[in-house]
Amino acid sequence: MDSIADLCLAFDGTYAGDAMRTLSELYTQIELETSSFCKQHEIACAEGCGTCCEHFMPDITTAEARLVAAYLLFVKRDRALMDRVLEFAGNTSGPCPLYRFDSPYHCSVYAARPLICRLFGACASQDKEGNALFRRCRFNKEETMPLLLKFTEDVPVMQDYSYALRSLDDGEGVVGYLPEKVASMMDQLQFLARMLEFDDSNPDDTPNPLAS
Ligand code: SF4
Ligand code: SF4
Repeated sequence: MDSIADLCLAFDGTYAGDAMRTLSELYTQIELETSSFCKQHEIACAEGCGTCCEHFMPDITTAEARLVAAYLLFVKRDRALMDRVLEFAGNTSGPCPLYRFDSPYHCSVYAARPLICRLFGACASQDKEGNALFRRCRFNKEETMPLLLKFTEDVPVMQDYSYALRSLDDGEGVVGYLPEKVASMMDQLQFLARMLEFDDSNPDDTPNPLAS
């Protein structure tokens, strides 16, 4: 499999497949809105920067974890990367196990990355008074984004996207750190894939680390 569309097709007709498709549609909508927002306000990350991923561990929902797990198992099929996620269980701070220090394309699951990774440095948030603000990411020493923007018009805000995400979630919006959430979803998806008779996540027939 090569893409999220392939994953949705492979799991078609199951709860997991429907949830992946719905989440992917939400991500597409968010991508369109945040790209347009960033373009309009000249917001960009510095080229090659991925410092945020070095310093935090994403808190993610069950639906987000399922998509990341499916991407790792059936698109990336990278045993070392899956082992790395398992090894990071218990870590509550960065780096994220999916961060690649040695590549300019830092995220190993870019197409399936969780919501917070899509919004960090790319969208406004609401202050205590309900006003929409954009603040420059604190790692952006290159100043490729404005320091502070205050909005009176309607703009995409992080909290709205977060509500939209949690409303889709079968785990009632309960979040957890990426390594544990993804590990648990890898187990479930492998079981489901065997039921659907397409489990190809172990290309070299090495023992499954999840079974140990
Ligand atoms: S959000 Fe900040 S740290 Fe993350 S990639 Fe953009 S500039 Fe770099
Ligand atoms: S999932 Fe990808 S984008 Fe998100 S923190 Fe990890 S490496 Fe960074």
